[in-house]
Amino acid sequence: MKPKYSVIVPVFNEMECLEPLYSRMTAVMDQTGENWELILVNDGSTDGSPEKMDELARLDNRIRVIHFARNFGHQIAVTAGMDHALGDAVIIIDADLQDPPEVITELIQKWKEGYEVVYAVRENREGETWFKTKTAAMFYRLIYKITDVKIPIDTGDFRLIDRKVLSVMNTMREKHRFLRGMSAWIGYKQIGVPYNRASRYAGSTKYPLKKMVRLAWNAITGFSYVPLQIAMYLGFIVAGLSILLIPVVILIRLTTGRELMGQTTTLISTLFLGGVQLICLGILGEYLGRIYDEVKNRPLYVIREISKTIFDEEEKA
Ligand code: UDP
Ligand code: MG
Repeated sequence: MKPKYSVIVPVFNEMECLEPLYSRMTAVMDQTGENWELILVNDGSTDGSPEKMDELARLDNRIRVIHFARNFGHQIAVTAGMDHALGDAVIIIDADLQDPPEVITELIQKWKEGYEVVYAVRENREGETWFKTKTAAMFYRLIYKITDVKIPIDTGDFRLIDRKVLSVMNTMREKHRFLRGMSAWIGYKQIGVPYNRASRYAGSTKYPLKKMVRLAWNAITGFSYVPLQIAMYLGFIVAGLSILLIPVVILIRLTTGRELMGQTTTLISTLFLGGVQLICLGILGEYLGRIYDEVKNRPLYVIREISKTIFDEEEKA
């Protein structure tokens, strides 16, 4: 027997959220009248979350707990969940109850209508800082503009993915992952469902600015060459400007008899050019580093321990 639905939850220090998440999830998923499994991925938590997860798994044998050897990051944790999911459809949801489990009913509804990816679109965000909402809004619009695949605006990882799309996604082993982009890249019939993003049930965000920037940068470099093109445009602009300057200097010399002199001019132009070159080198370096990571081809994550579920046991029998 296989479960119909696999719910994947990445967990990084979410001790207080786990129990309410489990009870709300059970209420919603049991209503479907189908078999379902819950995959909890412990992304190297350092609070009481791992024990809590094991405890839940003992109580309910539809729960699989995957313990990572350390913190590998949210996108990787979800990837591990997708690798181990057995369902015909997988649902990705955050542990902090910002994505209400009740919305899953609507996602499943759309899936039954024949859509292969159903993503939840954030209409409203509660309890998040002005800075986070604004930067997120800017980020989604920027990504939409500059990437080649159309990644839906205001959409997180909260979504339902059909097995067909999942099988393709599981073959995409890129090291710097932006799952929303990857699922958009695959295609198939996709649709959005609007929802109100609640505030965190407990705890504080596990996405500090540093991780947000890293995710944004993965999205940009993973799905577009625009930064590299910017380097080229900068080159054209600087070269164009200096060519334009030549007749200007000659004109000044002929009409006023004065020369453009002084260390300042030289210094500024040298520093400007040096700066532009370093920026371009840095951009190149970012892509190079990513190529290096791909070539090393390390596994995406390391699992310390993984639990069995009812679906494994029956498999053997
Ligand atoms: N998370 C994770 N590993 C990390 C950071 C976050 O597994 O390194 C999980 C976290 O436990 C939560 C989800 O990813 O279930 C989203 O994180 P969070 O709610 O902190 O992000 P935000 O909603 O503030 O963007
Ligand atoms: Mg959250």
